[in-house]
Amino acid sequence: MAGESVSNSPYDVVIIGGGPAGLTAGMYAARANLRTLAIAGDSTVSQVTVTDLIENYPGISEGINGFDLAERFKAQAVQFGLETASGDVTEGTGKRWGDKDGWEIAAGEMRFGALAVIIATGANWRRLGVPGEERFIGKGVSFCATCDGPFYKNREVAVVGGGDTAIQEALYLTRFAKKVTVIHRRDRLRATAILRKRAFASEKIAFAWDSVVESIDGLDLVQEVRLKDIKTGALSKLSVNGIFVFVGLTPNTAPFRELVRVDAGGYITTDAHMQTSVPGIFACGDCIAKRLRQVVTACGDGATAAFSAQLYVEELKGEAY
Ligand code: NAP
Repeated sequence: MAGESVSNSPYDVVIIGGGPAGLTAGMYAARANLRTLAIAGDSTVSQVTVTDLIENYPGISEGINGFDLAERFKAQAVQFGLETASGDVTEGTGKRWGDKDGWEIAAGEMRFGALAVIIATGANWRRLGVPGEERFIGKGVSFCATCDGPFYKNREVAVVGGGDTAIQEALYLTRFAKKVTVIHRRDRLRATAILRKRAFASEKIAFAWDSVVESIDGLDLVQEVRLKDIKTGALSKLSVNGIFVFVGLTPNTAPFRELVRVDAGGYITTDAHMQTSVPGIFACGDCIAKRLRQVVTACGDGATAAFSAQLYVEELKGEAY
């Protein structure tokens, strides 16, 4: 395979992913004196960077913008010696690196060797899969309220989903839009109580319960969505200028699914030490199978993965205590 290796000797640890899990793993590994590289994806953004407000990260009671928090994570990790690169790892890490114990990681044209690998590739927004969704991306269909909310000043928008993300982003959109209709396929919200309470208290938020989107329609831009009441089967139309889809996540694990064990949803299964099914490959953050996907849990996973990688590398080098 063509491509240049930017490194002649393998890193101790290569982390794939530049979000909270990857950067925390990077900080811990670098601080433990391991030669560590974190590769951030070129074509994916860490979800945290497009989160307007994080108010449940311990110690920051005033809340913080997600992008700012991610920048702080990176600066702290780099300060301890973490090296960074950017590129999409699309081919998995399935090859032994030369005749040594280790792995080769391909990111675009770059090749890196690693004694241990930490997969921290996060998750991406799931699509509805209805007519009009792909066609109107950037023309009224959005997956990021922080990015696109300001375009909808005094306009009407819809939010699809009933989880934490949908409700948090619906609340954020009330800063701009004159009306936000939350379209949810059930008659109650999955979102946490504090978010539910705020949403029900907002005069700008309306709810289309028991409803699914059948199609997203318009000429050049979104003009309306067609809804179906799943209890009665009744069809209706909702006039909106924009529709924000927050129906959960899909893990960014496609390149690794042949390599490490994943669950039915494609999430990487690990043990409590973030060890995957393959020795020397660890995983952490939103891409692993777990219950709670938060910045704080991603950071905890990252620290654990780095420590496990450290023990693994020390064992390989014959330096284990
Ligand atoms: P989520 O919790 O999986 O919720 C997804 C929502 O979309 C659910 O209400 C689900 O409906 C609905 N849905 C799924 N597929 C659908 C489809 N095809 N059509 C219509 N509706 C569909 O996902 P999330 O809200 O993105 O949250 C992901 C993780 O991040 C969670 O662990 C969440 O707690 C965390 N998070 C936390 C915060 C916070 O603490 N402030 C903020 C954002 C995210 P059902 O309810 O019927 O399943």
